[in-house]
Formats: sequence, structure tokens, C-alpha cells
Amino acid sequence: MRFPLALTAKIASYIVGHKLKKTDKFATVLQLEPLHTCNLTCTGCGRIREYSTSLKDVMSLEDCLQAPIDCGAPMVSICGGEPLIYPHIEALTNGILAQGRIVYMCTNAMFMRRKMRAYMASRFPTRPAVVESEMAALLKQELISEKDAADIRKGPKDASAPVIAPHGYFYWNVHLDGLEYIHDLIVEREGVFKECVLAMKMAKLLGYQVATNTTIFKETDMKEIEDMFEFLGELGLDGHTISPGYEYDAAKKDMVERLNLQPENFFLTRAMTREKFKDIEDWTTRFPVLGTPVYFEFLAGKRDLTCSAWAIPTRNIGGWKGPCYLMTDAHYGSYQELLEKVEWDKYGVVHGVAKDSRCENCMVHCGYEPSATLGAPINARSGDTWKNIKFNFGPRPKPSGKGKFVNAYNGVTSGRGHLTGPKEATKDLAGAA
Ligand code: SF4
Ligand code: SF4
Repeated sequence: MRFPLALTAKIASYIVGHKLKKTDKFATVLQLEPLHTCNLTCTGCGRIREYSTSLKDVMSLEDCLQAPIDCGAPMVSICGGEPLIYPHIEALTNGILAQGRIVYMCTNAMFMRRKMRAYMASRFPTRPAVVESEMAALLKQELISEKDAADIRKGPKDASAPVIAPHGYFYWNVHLDGLEYIHDLIVEREGVFKECVLAMKMAKLLGYQVATNTTIFKETDMKEIEDMFEFLGELGLDGHTISPGYEYDAAKKDMVERLNLQPENFFLTRAMTREKFKDIEDWTTRFPVLGTPVYFEFLAGKRDLTCSAWAIPTRNIGGWKGPCYLMTDAHYGSYQELLEKVEWDKYGVVHGVAKDSRCENCMVHCGYEPSATLGAPINARSGDTWKNIKFNFGPRPKPSGKGKFVNAYNGVTSGRGHLTGPKEATKDLAGAA
């Protein structure tokens, strides 16, 4: 199956339950941002710019654990900022899993191997033979060092401290926007792509589920993304999400002021998004892309959808962010208040007309993916439900084998690096645009 049966069935039964109850609006995925601090400064990231005054602030563990209960979403995407910096991330992850929800840890992967070593150390005192065998495999692939192995053998620093362990409802969701050169350029630091690959390999070896998430910008070469998916197929990953970028006001301002880049050279219009995604339906037959075929038809320009941002709400330090993950007009005290106070009819694009000018070029996953199953009747076509079921209960595409021949390390590894920092990034991005 494209997505594990238990998880697909859980989400499907949740949605069917709400439909039978005729619930007007409900949450399917919670975007939980326990903090906005990040160790990277990716070009185009709205989060670290919009919330740049609250980078030191974090949500309490209690508030974080209450948020999924408040909105009821069966799936929680823990994002940020970089969630692995959050001081209670292990307790948060385990707490949400204990609520019976699916967790996606959206990370730039820089701290993943450290967290997985902590998991191994926690098991060493009780299962030394198993951990030794895992370490032998990891050492062979140079995914840990001899020093790391020695540290793991010392066991946990605090035996009562929680760790992030493999779990049927848990996914690492690694941010990857291209192969080495482009990814490192977008995240404005060399070596990040390589670390992502090492972390994903280690995670698979230890039995974790691993997905990737990719944002498409104007200068993204879709052939490169296709090659990236071929390459990732060789790592045995569990799925990929892909979404067009959104032109955050804060990110646009940062681009002009810090990088001397023109935002119109970086972000997509609706027409450009359709052009970029014209082959997405073919890709879903070749790669384990996660989502719904109706959303992919929308991205490819074959149909219209209206925005259902209420289905993927965002909870952060300010409260429940309205109207959506991308735009901030207000923060509310509860999910119910968000549902009641946001004037939903004022947002989105209907029949080609943007109800709010900031929505004009938006086709992002967090606004439109849920519309494929929950959207307004004007979106519905006969056979949609069956199409979505068939897709998600259908077989997962197998790797073609072409990934072995992809030149993934086409940046600093092959001597084609760029110096870290905005100055060099500006030069290269300006050249690519
Ligand atoms: S890793 Fe994520 S949160 Fe951090 S700067 Fe990049 S896009 Fe933003
Ligand atoms: S169309 Fe996009 S920007 Fe507008 S409300 Fe929906 S998700 Fe937000």
C-alpha cells in the first residue's frame, strides 16, 4: 500500500465519521509549532522571519499536548522552526503517540542522528546484542563514528529521559528541496544535503519510517526533483510530499533586504505552478508521493478547488493562527474560536478570482490538499471519493533502479561548493533566476 493500512484506515474512518455527523469544518492535520527557533536560515522561509521577535519563546509541553486534543486531528505535523531544538521534543512526540495520533516530525535533519544515537544508548543496557549488531551495520556505512559507538555503549545519561523510538505512527519528515548543490544553496549552508542523506539512511537501518517534504520554487528544475526522487528510491524511503512555495510577506522583505533578490524571481504564480506540476500525476505512478489524486489534478491545472485552510490549522506560541499556516491576521485562544471567528468566505480563490489578494498565487498543500476530500460541493466530481481511496489503498510504486546513476552529490562534495552565507547565495540564486 502507498501508506500503511492502519494509518490510512484511521484517517479514512475519522473523516467518514465527521461526514456522517455532517460536521461542517474539522481538522485533519494539526501543524504544531512548539518554537520558531531554527539552526538554519533557508531562503524563502517565512517562519523564522515572521516570528523573528519570538525566537526564544517556546510553547509549554502541556499546551503542545493539549492542542491535538482541542482540534481532534488524527495526524500532527510537528514543525517550527526546527522541532528537534525544542527542549521537550521526546516527551511531546511520545505524548502525542500515546494519544493514538500519527506524528510527522518535520525536520532539517541536522540533529536527527544525535536523537537516534540517544535512542540506541537508551536500549544498550537491556539489549546490548541487538544494539551492537545495529552499530556494526552503521559503522560499516560510516553513519556513526567509533566515538559515537563508544558513547552509545555507555548507555543513557539519564535512564528515565524519554527518547524518540521507531513507532508505526511515527515518521521523520525530512526537508529536501533538491540535490546537493541546490539544497545547500536554498538552506544557505554547505553539507546539509549530505547530513540529510546520512540521517535518512541511519533511520531506515534502525527501523524508522522516513518521508521527505519538498517545496517547489520558481527556479526549481523539475527534472532535478525527478532525479532526486529516483535517488531517494534507493534509500527505501516511505513517501514524499511536494508543494509549491508561498510568497510570505516576511520572506519577500528578507529577500530584498538581506539577499538583494527580487521575490518575483523566486516565487511561483498560479500559472507557473501548473506548468511545474504538469507531470505530477505521472510521478505519482512512479514514486511514493503522498497526497490525493484530486489535489494533484488541481496542481496540474486540470480542475479547480477552493481553500479549506480550517482543516490544517496551525497552533504556535501566539495561539491558533488564522486564517492559515501561511497568513497571520490574528491568533485565537482555541480551535473552536478560530473556526467561529475567521470569516472563511473571505479567503481562497474561487472560479479564478482571489477573495484576498494574498491568496492569488497560493496552491499550497495546507490550503488545498484537504479540499480534495472535504471541500465545497462546487469542487466535487463524481468518482472523486473512489479515486482518492483507490490511490491511497493502492500499491506503492517501486524504485526503478535509475537512482543509482543520479549524480546526487553535485555540490561541495564534488568541489562545486558555494561559501555559506547570504553573499554567495545571492550571487548563485540571482544567476539561477
Ligand atoms: S529548516 Fe525549516 S524552519 Fe528552519 S529556516 Fe529552513 S525552512 Fe525555515
Ligand atoms: S488560499 Fe492559501 S493563503 Fe489563502 S487562506 Fe487558503 S491557504 Fe491561506
